[in-house]
Amino acid sequence: MQRTLVIFKPDCVHRRLVGQILSRFEAKGLAVVGLKLIQVDRALAEKHYAEHAGKPFFEGLIGFITSAPVVVGVLEGNEAITVVRTLLGATNGVAAAPGTIRGDYSSSKQNNLVHGSDSPESAEREIAMWFKAGEVA
Ligand code: ATP
Repeated sequence: MQRTLVIFKPDCVHRRLVGQILSRFEAKGLAVVGLKLIQVDRALAEKHYAEHAGKPFFEGLIGFITSAPVVVGVLEGNEAITVVRTLLGATNGVAAAPGTIRGDYSSSKQNNLVHGSDSPESAEREIAMWFKAGEVA
């Protein structure tokens, strides 16, 4: 069993797509072991996206992720990290294959609905960053 962090970004919450997309993860076999709606502050946003600091899209990305509430969750299941990223599709919604979440619902590089951890190391770091011990089952 593996755990991964997902963030339903402000565009996803705003478009009322959280339930539909969460259902796709559950239908694939992943279990929700943590879930909450929060307003992200700049410090957490910069920490989460530290690897992108200095890139041309960084300021826009921080502005976007702090613009409105997000729903953040921990999903558990077999190969959860790969399963989530496969269901999400390519980063850029324009390029993402039809049938993937981004392919079906996004046509933007930035507003691509959901984040998923990209490695076991990232998942461990991100879950600790976004959740306190008692908030995850
Ligand atoms: P995520 O980390 O959100 O799961 P990812 O791993 O597919 O996405 P990254 O390259 O890590 O993609 O980029 C992180 C996020 O930064 C993207 O999901 C997107 O919201 C934003 N982003 C990435 N590239 C661009 C870009 N060229 N222009 C605008 N926003 C971008």
